[in-house]
Amino acid sequence: MRTKILTSLVSMAFAGYVTVAVSAPPHWSYEEEPYWGALEDATQPVPLRYPYAECGIGKHQSPVDLADEKIVKTRPLNKLAAQYGTDTPSFINTGHAIQVNTSRNFTGGLKVGKELLPLIQLHFHEPSEHVFGDKKFPAELHFVHVNKDGRIAVLAVTIDIGKENAVFQTILDNMPYGSGEENSTAGVSLKLEKLLPSGVSTGNSLTTPPCSEGVQWYILTKSITISAAQLEHMKTFYSNNARSTQDLNERSILSN
Ligand SMILES: [Zn+2]
Repeated sequence: MRTKILTSLVSMAFAGYVTVAVSAPPHWSYEEEPYWGALEDATQPVPLRYPYAECGIGKHQSPVDLADEKIVKTRPLNKLAAQYGTDTPSFINTGHAIQVNTSRNFTGGLKVGKELLPLIQLHFHEPSEHVFGDKKFPAELHFVHVNKDGRIAVLAVTIDIGKENAVFQTILDNMPYGSGEENSTAGVSLKLEKLLPSGVSTGNSLTTPPCSEGVQWYILTKSITISAAQLEHMKTFYSNNARSTQDLNERSILSN
């Protein structure tokens, strides 16, 4: 069944996405982890119809433990550049995470080699999903990209406690509290690049991309910071919405 879903995901054309009212999202709980990738929200156009597609399909799911000894440092990486710029997005409380959907006219995305994968949404987990040896970060940010063939790439950024992040504060301040609610009329201009560690937008990022089935993950080795107060603010929406670490299976993790 998972293979079938993957096939349909890949074969479906990316028809563009429109801002629609977020009706009841598909039911899930963290106990149902193995099935997340296949949960379908039929009320949403592709690719939003598979809001949990990033959860991966098959055995090769992220997150994994990214301890040093598991990282292969010899294989070259595609050159990456996160070209996000500024957008006037929608703020969505999905019922499981706080999420920001980019606007219809947004042209930014993740450049992988020569291809630009459009950024469709970003959302937050608390604590981090990826584990680095013994270390978990207080939170993690996922930028979700889908290209016109339905191929998904997620850029993960770990979040540490430190200096306040003004863009993250704007997200918190515009986020609706009701589960399934969307604030699409905020009209706030958001500098999405301020949610990235320095150097990523110019292509100088250090990344560790594990190869997964269906979803390509890129995990930045540099963190961004938010303040302790901002983390507490975020937890008033959702806390403990991170998945448990998955087996590495046959994946290799690359680092440059
Ligand atoms: Zn995520």
